Amino acid sequence: MTDDCLFCRIVAGEIPADVVRRGDGMLAFRDIAPKAPVHVLVIPERHVHSIAGVDGLDSDERAQMLAFIADVAAQEGIEESGYRVTTNHGPDALQSVFHLHWHVMGGTTLSESM
Ligand code: AMP
Repeated sequence: MTDDCLFCRIVAGEIPADVVRRGDGMLAFRDIAPKAPVHVLVIPERHVHSIAGVDGLDSDERAQMLAFIADVAAQEGIEESGYRVTTNHGPDALQSVFHLHWHVMGGTTLSESM
């Protein structure tokens, strides 16, 4: 837990979120400004600043994170129709929240430029 981290505060229940799945040290909740009909953020509960800090997660957590992303997409009903998973690191990618998160987007045909 990092006190000044928005997503750590969501994990701790200090800030409300529309949680869709929780388990195995992972949390999934709806993006507050969705860019697709389904736009869920998947985060490890343990704080790492971005994918560049993924060494801060152990190998079990990394494996669980990938499986969790796929489980969330299936739960959201977009496994057949398709979905995109992205993560942003650093200024060129316009990362705005500095806690590793995966955007899981689907529910429509996504723009090539997203
Ligand atoms: P990024 O720009 O990749 O760092 O993505 C951060 C994402 O977090 C953006 O898509 C925001 O809309 C989303 N976001 C910011 N604050 C919240 C919040 N309180 N609850 C849910 N999503 C949020």
